[in-house]
Amino acid sequence: MALDIAPKRLPVPEQSAEERIKNFNDVVIGYSIEEAVAESARCLQCKNAPCIKGCPVSIDIPGFLKAIKEKDLEKSWDIISQYTNLPAVCGRVCPQEKQCEGVCTVGRIKGYEPVSIGKMERFIADWKAEHGSKVAPKVPEQTKGNVAVVGSGPSSLTVAGDLAKMGYKVTVYEALHAAGGVLMYGIPEFRLPKAIVRREIDNIKALGVKIETNVAVGRSVTIEELQSHFDAVYIATGAGTPHFMGVPGTSLNGVYSASEYLTRINLMHGYEFPKYDTPTKESEKVVVVGGGNVAMDAARSALRLGAKSVQVVYRRSLEELPARIEEYHHAVEEGVIFNWLTNPVEYVGSETGNIVGVKCIRMELGEPDASGRRRPQEIKGSEFTIEADTIIEAIGQGPNKVLLSAFQELKLNKKGYIDADPETGQADPEWVFAGGDIVTGAATVILAMGAGKKAAEAIDKYITEKKAAGK
Ligand SMILES: Cc1cc2nc3c(=O)[nH]c(=O)nc-3n(C[C@H](O)[C@H](O)[C@H](O)COP(=O)(O)OP(=O)(O)OC[C@H]3O[C@@H](n4cnc5c(N)ncnc54)[C@H](O)[C@@H]3O)c2cc1C
Repeated sequence: MALDIAPKRLPVPEQSAEERIKNFNDVVIGYSIEEAVAESARCLQCKNAPCIKGCPVSIDIPGFLKAIKEKDLEKSWDIISQYTNLPAVCGRVCPQEKQCEGVCTVGRIKGYEPVSIGKMERFIADWKAEHGSKVAPKVPEQTKGNVAVVGSGPSSLTVAGDLAKMGYKVTVYEALHAAGGVLMYGIPEFRLPKAIVRREIDNIKALGVKIETNVAVGRSVTIEELQSHFDAVYIATGAGTPHFMGVPGTSLNGVYSASEYLTRINLMHGYEFPKYDTPTKESEKVVVVGGGNVAMDAARSALRLGAKSVQVVYRRSLEELPARIEEYHHAVEEGVIFNWLTNPVEYVGSETGNIVGVKCIRMELGEPDASGRRRPQEIKGSEFTIEADTIIEAIGQGPNKVLLSAFQELKLNKKGYIDADPETGQADPEWVFAGGDIVTGAATVILAMGAGKKAAEAIDKYITEKKAAGK
């Protein structure tokens, strides 16, 4: 089928690989207005809009693209901001290839690429910040009730923004000194500049949301105190506790979890290397274990911090790699080396306790496991050693437990996450709602936001009914 549109999406300008490994600036430069207008014209404005169904927060994608095509950028912003409080973030980090763009009608036609929806979302959010009208949003009076939100990641920011727009007084409590959750301490500057996260958080504050940092609920404030001051509590404390391989040598100097490594870079100015050189050890030969976004972020950060070689060790193959494909391509372009079907069995240390290498074993794929992916099995006798002075493990995370261990009445599931209704986020006890990674396990920004959206509706209903019943 031949269509009257360009078959290929407009390539988005990026820093070259040689240039960008010397800095922590945003890799993607983004579309100009002319490019955005041209790319938006590739949208077919399908009546059934599969892209909307593919988006966990149901953004009116054809609507905002049409407004860009008509050069009405303010209208495009108005459309997007009805659905999301974090468009500049989502435009940069959402796995669009598996969501809106994955089901785009254009992309399903042989020889055609899907519309570049994510890059357009980011374009409109950045345009609004730089050139759009600065009129403060109209906020309803906050008289409908009081809601406490624990954690300040994307799930919390979504619930907080949506409830404020409905007329609730919302207070967010964050244990760290900076709000934003993984958006601030996990995802590196070159994929998600912190100024952009702060800008979107400021937009949420402008709706009347209060954010208190350095408050660990369950320690500095008890859950009982929150219950007595608020009509409902939303918990989105995330899944930031790192898992470890547990191989011999884990306690050697130079072995990090990716959580620690990335947090040091993001929250302790590591990204301003060499101005700040202490947050992480200076490394020459880095090995990253794992194949998700976290592993890609750690590997690419290590390159930017001056490592001469960065190798990823992953026990499955490229086909099973969980990282976003864009991140993998960027990592390859930047010089990261991938060791497929390889697993560490031991970290080798010097007499002084410093890491000097990783003993690995080759793997082969057997029958599918519970996740549906083929199970990796060791090939006996295939051990070999990679020289390394730094190991970064990025093999997954579990629930953040500070609040869970202090809140014994809260019902958890078998895996230790909060047992919440997937449609409403309501947990047990009933005045608690929860969403994001603390319910699903480590997932994605947009799924955490989707949970926040549903919970905002449910919290509104819960408080309205409670007040109507005079409770
Ligand atoms: C390095 C990295 C890269 C990633 N890359 C991507 C990506 O490219 N695309 C994507 O979609 N997803 C990505 N993810 C996953 C995504 O960031 C998460 O799924 C998402 O942030 C989860 O949001 P959340 O709101 O549930 O929790 P989080 O973002 O984890 O926020 C939870 C917050 O709660 C706070 N907290 C915990 N306990 C308490 C307490 N007791 N009191 C007060 N505050 C507390 C924490 O300090 C934290 O700030 C990545 C994750 C990591 C770690």
